[in-house]
Amino acid sequence: MKEFLLNTVALVILLGVMPSAGFCFSPAPTRPTPEDTCARFRGNTDPASSLNIVFVSYGYRGDNATFNENAKLLANNLMIKNPFRGAKINFYTLYRPSDSGVFCFSLDRLWTCGGSENNIRAITKNTCGLENSQQVVISGEPSGTGKGSSDFQSVTTVAFHRGGAEDIFVHEFGHSFGKLSDEYVDPKLEAINGKIQLNCRRGASAASGCAGWKDLIDAKVPGVGCYQGCVAGFGAWRSSQYSMMRDAYGDFNPVSQRYLCCELSRITKQTPPACTIFNQVGKGLKNVCGL
Ligand SMILES: [Zn+2]
Repeated sequence: MKEFLLNTVALVILLGVMPSAGFCFSPAPTRPTPEDTCARFRGNTDPASSLNIVFVSYGYRGDNATFNENAKLLANNLMIKNPFRGAKINFYTLYRPSDSGVFCFSLDRLWTCGGSENNIRAITKNTCGLENSQQVVISGEPSGTGKGSSDFQSVTTVAFHRGGAEDIFVHEFGHSFGKLSDEYVDPKLEAINGKIQLNCRRGASAASGCAGWKDLIDAKVPGVGCYQGCVAGFGAWRSSQYSMMRDAYGDFNPVSQRYLCCELSRITKQTPPACTIFNQVGKGLKNVCGL
């Protein structure tokens, strides 16, 4: 925000000394600055049939080495979680010393780098040359220290200076990439993050609330049940007591894994190794995902 104000002041000064007739000033904020560098650091599959995850730096103030280290840590932690383990995923770092064109701000308890005024998608596309990618902003910005990581408009923000960033990243990525809901109940948080998604459904009864994964309950898949309460309150239903979307710790429950498998299969144009189980139990990925 400070940067935005400074840019605005600079623009006003600049316009003040410009000749007024016939001059059109366009700041073109989506153009990459010359110092921006995009590099693939993990995965070497065809980007057209892979999940491409781009870590975008924010607030690292010239410390490219720390940013790279942090990005590796997050990638390592995602790749040990099912169903990401073994899937066709390429990881990139997009190092941006100037932070220009990216806007991060506090949204209540969260630190977020999404919003209509941000250009993260355009910057990523232009600099990395990727048609499809998932953006994750890693914030080394000290002013974000007190605020938590977030998902906003499918851009993940990781506030790295807060503890447990690796697991919280996976949780937020579950929102951004998998369109998964939180599986905890907290009325205070509902206003920010209370979207009803696939893994948390409203229902007048257990039968209607948990209908989306009844086939896995019937197949007696361990860790799949029917429990009242998730982010939308006690009128909604979830499938397990413990899960990455409930605790921001551990693994995704099987129901969440299956929905993540839908996204991964669609993007990678194949069934990832950790997803084949869902063609062996229940109604199969084709039916669940509409592939
Ligand atoms: Zn969450």
